[in-house]
Amino acid sequence: MTTQTPSPLPGSLADVDPEVLAMIDGETRRLRETIQLIPSENYPSQAVMEATGSVFTTKYAEGYPKRRYYQGCQWVDAVEDLARKRACTLFGADHANVQPHSGSSANMGVYLASLNYGDTVMGLDLIAGGHLTHGSPVNFSAKLYKFVAYGVDPKTELIDFDQVRGVARANRPKMIVVGATAYPRTFDWATFKEIADEVGALLLADIAHISGLIAGGAHPSPVPFADFCSTSTHKALRGPRGGMILCKSEWAERIDKAIMPGLQGGPLEHVIAAKAVMLHEALQPAFRDYAHAIVSNAKALAQSLLDEGLTLVTGGTENHLLIVRLGETGPTGKEIARALERAGLIANANTVPGETRGAFQTSGVRFGTPAATTFGFGADEFRTIGKLIARVIKDPADTTMLKSTANEVRDLCHAVETRRLDLSHSAA
Ligand SMILES: *Cc1c(COP(=O)(O)O)cnc(C)c1O
Repeated sequence: MTTQTPSPLPGSLADVDPEVLAMIDGETRRLRETIQLIPSENYPSQAVMEATGSVFTTKYAEGYPKRRYYQGCQWVDAVEDLARKRACTLFGADHANVQPHSGSSANMGVYLASLNYGDTVMGLDLIAGGHLTHGSPVNFSAKLYKFVAYGVDPKTELIDFDQVRGVARANRPKMIVVGATAYPRTFDWATFKEIADEVGALLLADIAHISGLIAGGAHPSPVPFADFCSTSTHKALRGPRGGMILCKSEWAERIDKAIMPGLQGGPLEHVIAAKAVMLHEALQPAFRDYAHAIVSNAKALAQSLLDEGLTLVTGGTENHLLIVRLGETGPTGKEIARALERAGLIANANTVPGETRGAFQTSGVRFGTPAATTFGFGADEFRTIGKLIARVIKDPADTTMLKSTANEVRDLCHAVETRRLDLSHSAA
C-alpha cells in the first residue's frame, strides 16, 4: 500500500489473512490471463484503487458538504465537493450527486425524487436491452411504479420511434427512461426529448453503460435534453464501483434529499474520493482517445465476427458492445458463454430481440470492448479475438480446441501486457 493508514490492526493482509490474499492473487491472475469481454466491466487505474482503499473509509458523513450531521468532515467535504465539481465540468451538468452506492441506487433516487407510487413510467423492453430497474417484474421498479415498455423494430432491431410515440401517447407516462444494458447503437436523445415534451413526461437518460463514451465524446450527450442522467461509475467510465446522478438545477434539492435521507445512510467517502480521481482521469485528453478506441475496437470485433459468418443484433455496433445472435435450435447463449470461459474468453449470455429461450439460457452472447481496450488490445487483436470467438461458437463441445484456445488467449494477454509495459517505459 502506498497510503499510510492509521490502523489499530497489526500487519498486512499477507500476515493477517493469507486465505483472502490468495483469492485476490487468483483473481489478479485471472484478470491477466483471460480476456474480459463483458461490456459493463473495466480495469480501474492504480490511482482509483488507492483512493478506494484510503482512510476515507473510516468517516461517517451523512448529509452533504457543509451540511453534515457529524463533525470532522473537513476533508470529506473537500473531496466530495471536488467530485461534484469535476462531474459537472466533465458532463456539462448543472448539478451532480456522487453518493449513490450503485447505478441501481441512482435510478431509485431519481424515481423517489420525481414520481409518486403507482405513476406510469416508460422504459425499454428488457428483452431488447432494458435494465432490471426499468420495470423488471422481479425488481422494486415494477413493484412501486406502473411500467410500460417500448421496444425495437423486429426487422431492423433499432428503437422504433413510431412505437415509442404510440406507447407514450396511449399511456401518458410521468417519465420516459432511456438507456440499456445491451443496445449496440447510439441513442437519439433529441427525438426522445421531443416525445417526452409532447406527452408532458420527464426524461431520464440512464447512461450507465455509455457514460464513459459520452465523457470522451464518442457518443452524443443527453445532458442538454434530459431532466436527469443516472450512471454507474465502474463501466466505461473506469472508476470505482458506484453510481452518480446528474440533473437540471431545479431538481438538485429533491435529488439530494431522495438519496439522503431518502434511501441511503452514510456515503462511501472512500469511493467518492475514487470517483473524484476517475473524473480527473476522464477530463484528460487521453480519455477521449480511449473512448474512441473502445468504439473502433468494437467495430473491428464486429467486422471480424461478420466475416466469420455470424449474425449480429442490428447487424453491427456503433458503441462499445455487440450481441451475437445464435441459431434458435443449437447451443444456447449460456452454453456458449460457458465454452468461451473455458477458452479464456469471458463474456455473458444475453437475450436477443424476439427471444424465445428466456433470460437465463438465451439465444445470444454479448461482447464489449471497454476492459480489453484498457488492458491494451487494439484493432488487430480484436480481429484475432473475433476469430477465436467464432471458433468456439462453431464447435463449443471440442474440449481439446477450448484448451488450446485458452493457451492462445494467455499468450495474447502476455504479449499485449509486455508491449504496454515497454510503451510505458519508453514514454517515461
Ligand atoms: C449497469 C446498469 C445499471 C445498474 O448499475 P449497478 O451499478 O449494477 O446497480 C443501471 N442501468 C443500466 C442501463 C445499466 O447498464
